[in-house]
Amino acid sequence: MMTRLYHHPIFREHLTGPGHPERPERIVALEAALEAETFQNLDRVLAPEGSVEAIYRCHSVDYVRRIARTIPEEGMARIDGDTMVSPKSFSAALHGIGAACAGVDDVVSGAARNVFVAARPPGHHAERETAMGFCLFNQAAIAARHAQAIHGLERVAIVDWDVHHGNGTQDIFWTDSSVLYVSTHQMPLYPGTGARTETGAGNIVNVPLREDDGTDEFRLAFSEIVLPVLENFRPDLVIVSAGFDAHHRDPLGGLNLIEADFDWATGKLLEIADRFSQRRLVSVLEGGYDLQGLSQSVAAHVKRLMVG
Ligand code: ZN
Repeated sequence: MMTRLYHHPIFREHLTGPGHPERPERIVALEAALEAETFQNLDRVLAPEGSVEAIYRCHSVDYVRRIARTIPEEGMARIDGDTMVSPKSFSAALHGIGAACAGVDDVVSGAARNVFVAARPPGHHAERETAMGFCLFNQAAIAARHAQAIHGLERVAIVDWDVHHGNGTQDIFWTDSSVLYVSTHQMPLYPGTGARTETGAGNIVNVPLREDDGTDEFRLAFSEIVLPVLENFRPDLVIVSAGFDAHHRDPLGGLNLIEADFDWATGKLLEIADRFSQRRLVSVLEGGYDLQGLSQSVAAHVKRLMVG
């Protein structure tokens, strides 16, 4: 079985305007990095279009309608201070959701060993009723709900190492102990949530890091908190909200991770998936805004997914 990569040209057509960090070039850069010889055995599949029914498991019907109504026929429209949409944005988001859900199908059926979804816009800031932080729909959350609704999996863990706290994922699962949300992130930083005291139904585990923390602090947090929490939860599926903006080159984050940290953390999550989840692991791209830091970190992450 191979590692599957979901990609689609539509992910380059969600436009955000000049100077916006969450830009189409992110996908161009990481896809270029995945062209290297090392990745010739990657199973490349075009992202299918997801269904709005899948979205309704995490967002309200009214919310989906509101987002659809903001999509302009041409040019760009602003949802909030930093969340932009263009004519292809809804379709791009639907393909991201389709890929995340198909990735779940793949690891459950055994069609793939594990999956990386190279989609944009990202999703983890999207709350049940609110788009924010470049995010429209919460792919990772929707994939978790899809796993439960369609495949009958009981416990799903979402591990989020994006430098920003995934307030959207936390919001969606705040009262639902069947989904564990565990996040490492810089604090204080956008969006302002993610304190240790935010625990939901006991299923939310926030591990804030401080500005300038790097390899040692991240790995310590992972080893002492993230991994034991996962072992205790015994997930049927591991979903990774894989943002790479904790990389030291990233312009939006102040952490100092290097590619080797993403390689290491990926290996640790694969071990958890091997032990508890019948190896099922689906990783969904979130942030990462320095093109070199992003592409090299994605390469390290996907290479580890491939070699186990
Ligand atoms: Zn981020």
